[in-house]
Amino acid sequence: MHLQAGPDAKIDADWLGHKIQFFAAQNGRDWLALTGVDVGASAGSSVLRVVVRREKGSSDMSRTVEIEPAHYRTGALTVPPKFVEPGPEELKQIEADAKLKARVFATSAPEPLWSGNFRAPVGAQATDSFGTRRTFNGKLASIHKGMDYRAATGTVVRAGNSGVIVLARPLYYEGNCVVIDHGLGLYTLSMHLSRIDVKEGQRVATGEPLGLSGATGRVTGPHLHWAVRWQDAYLDPAKLLRLDLSTVH
Ligand SMILES: [Zn+2]
Repeated sequence: MHLQAGPDAKIDADWLGHKIQFFAAQNGRDWLALTGVDVGASAGSSVLRVVVRREKGSSDMSRTVEIEPAHYRTGALTVPPKFVEPGPEELKQIEADAKLKARVFATSAPEPLWSGNFRAPVGAQATDSFGTRRTFNGKLASIHKGMDYRAATGTVVRAGNSGVIVLARPLYYEGNCVVIDHGLGLYTLSMHLSRIDVKEGQRVATGEPLGLSGATGRVTGPHLHWAVRWQDAYLDPAKLLRLDLSTVH
């Protein structure tokens, strides 16, 4: 989102229950925000509420935003039964993971840590898998909230942009997982790694190695699952990679 409001403006915006934080563009005049719609959101009209406050008064710049329907595939996968009907020990780990992730995603840097365009985490081919409605072992239904790359085990996985590592450890479903906070609620997640080469708290630059791809966690085979999260929404990674941010921040 792009707003021309002058450097002294204070912007108050929300959309689909999300508070939207704008940051100053490189040119010092404009304001920008990176936002998106969750993969599970309904199509239809939504209201983007924007109020711009300046010393001499405030103006309402709210508008209606149409959310277009997307067409996603469906698929059926078979994984080890413990990933569909986890036992008591596994449920404990899943619960601990959920608490940890809630803590990790509760705070994000108050300014953008990314700069310039996002880049793909691996050179391997991406599959058209974002948003696929899947069943696991014919039972569990779920939405695929990321993009799968056909990466052989051992492929170097790189940071899609600069940020801070806020999670780098094994999780039950995600396997070895690395999460980068890019600031203002934007994160990228790399899952199922065979090896993690970064530490929580570490700053990374665009393209810096995070680890090696693999087949840990709930998988049917080796691949890299790469996800883009903004606040609590999962966005289409392909759309983020297509954005030209080179002159923005
Ligand atoms: Zn995946």
